[in-house]
Amino acid sequence: MQLIDREAFSTTLVSALGMYDREASDEAIDTWMSTLKAFDLSRVRSALRDHMEHPDEGKRCPRPVDIWRRLSNGGGKGAQCSATSPEAGRCEYPGVFSEGTDGSGQWYCPWHREARIGAAALAIIEQSKSVPYAEAMATRVEKANAEARESPEVKRIRAAMEARGRSAKTHAFPVPPLRQPGEDEAAA
Ligand SMILES: [Zn+2]
Repeated sequence: MQLIDREAFSTTLVSALGMYDREASDEAIDTWMSTLKAFDLSRVRSALRDHMEHPDEGKRCPRPVDIWRRLSNGGGKGAQCSATSPEAGRCEYPGVFSEGTDGSGQWYCPWHREARIGAAALAIIEQSKSVPYAEAMATRVEKANAEARESPEVKRIRAAMEARGRSAKTHAFPVPPLRQPGEDEAAA
C-alpha cells in the first residue's frame, strides 16, 4: 500500500475494527500501513475479510501481524522464492510476491522483492538457510513497527494528540477551590 491508499484503507480498517467495537486511531492506521506497505490494498482488504470470516481467528480483532502472516503465508500458495545466487543457491523462503499482478511469473520472498541482486540479496539467501521464515518475519514486523513509531508522520500525530490532551486539561471545567469550614460565615 502506498500513501495514496491511506484514505481508502482507513475506511476499510475503521469498518473492520468497528465490528469488534474498536476504533482505528491515526496512529494505528500508520502502523497498519507501515506493516503492510509491501502488499497491494486489494490483497490487504481480502486478507482482512478472510481473517474476519475465519471461524477461530475471526473471533479476535485483527492485528497488523495477523494480516501480515496471512498474506505472507498464503500469497505464494507454496511457491518458493525465485531468488538465486551462484554462491548460495536458491532462497529457501516462500515466494509471497508475484512479478505479475495476476500471480504469473516469478515469486519472491518479502526481502527479495526489495532487493533481488547484490550483497543484500545474497545475505538473505544465506539467512534463509539458517533462520526459519516465521522467526525472520517476526523480526521484520517488529522492525516495521519500530520504524512506524519513529516515522516523522507518526511523531507529528502523536505530538498533536498530546497537545490536544494538554489543552483539553487546561480548558476542562475549572475545579472550584475547596471551601474551608466556617468560610461562609466569615464572609457574611
Ligand atoms: Zn527470497
